[in-house]
Amino acid sequence: MRFPLSTDQLVHMVEENRSHTILGNTAQYIPALANQDPNQLGILLMGAQGDMLMAGDTDVSFTLQSISKIISFISVCQEYGLEHVLEKVDVEPTGEAFNSIIPFEIHRPGKPFNPLINAGAITVSAMLPGNSTDEKFQNLIEFIESFIGEQLELDEDVYISEKETAHRNRALAYYLKESNLLELEVEEALDIYLKQCSINITLKQLARIGLIIAYNGKDPITKKDVFSSDVARLAKVLMVTCGMYNASGKFAAHVGIPAKSGVSGGILAAVPPQCHREAGYGIAVYSPSIDVSGNSAAGTMLLKQLSSMFNFSIF
Ligand code: GLU
Repeated sequence: MRFPLSTDQLVHMVEENRSHTILGNTAQYIPALANQDPNQLGILLMGAQGDMLMAGDTDVSFTLQSISKIISFISVCQEYGLEHVLEKVDVEPTGEAFNSIIPFEIHRPGKPFNPLINAGAITVSAMLPGNSTDEKFQNLIEFIESFIGEQLELDEDVYISEKETAHRNRALAYYLKESNLLELEVEEALDIYLKQCSINITLKQLARIGLIIAYNGKDPITKKDVFSSDVARLAKVLMVTCGMYNASGKFAAHVGIPAKSGVSGGILAAVPPQCHREAGYGIAVYSPSIDVSGNSAAGTMLLKQLSSMFNFSIF
């Protein structure tokens, strides 16, 4: 498989885009994330034979944060089927911040708007297969490990830092509980949610996940079915409509790649193989300076440039 650009070109693009890190800041509301180096920018593309192209700060690991939400959603869909999951959480964008309580309060929808906002993600975390919080988290981490064939670890510092400052998420979980939408107690559901946000990942591991999503749940490297194509289709729809917080519309318009970002500065992107482009790619980006929408500032600009140069848009 050939990448449409050389390593030198990608290095050049990374260095060009690194200046955009000044357009944001590290996530200040989680002390352990606030300490990340805001000037970092790294990218890794993975092709269907496991071939890789990378540039910038690639020797990094960071926590999944909101990126975990799309994987926990895939996990519960795979376990219980789409119909059951969609009874508990909808697939509508909100136009509000990811941790806002407003859509719930105003519309009283009867279920969270989508699994990529915190209310929906906490609901989904509580649904994960397993008889205890430990088992649910363990099942999720093993599910993610089944994508990449490697063991993953929790970043204890980030987890503790989040747990001590998760006031808004706690409020959301209480709201869900009051609305009879939470299958667990507040602290149990929060614990799983905050742990999944604190799983450490590398660019290579993240790109592999993106590649499997791009190939509809079938790992093109091992040929293994990791999850069903129906679930993959819905995951990509959610990534396009809600994956980049409130900038999802602009991202779809200017980048056009199904993607999910997290406040640690990571972006998971899945470029599906389709008519005008035979090859699909998984792309992982890390740059911890995030913009007002919560997306990696330089990471978004780099993906935009890459997509427009090489026609990665699915639209
Ligand atoms: N743990 C973070 C939170 O719930 C995740 C947010 C994100 O990445 O958007 O606040």
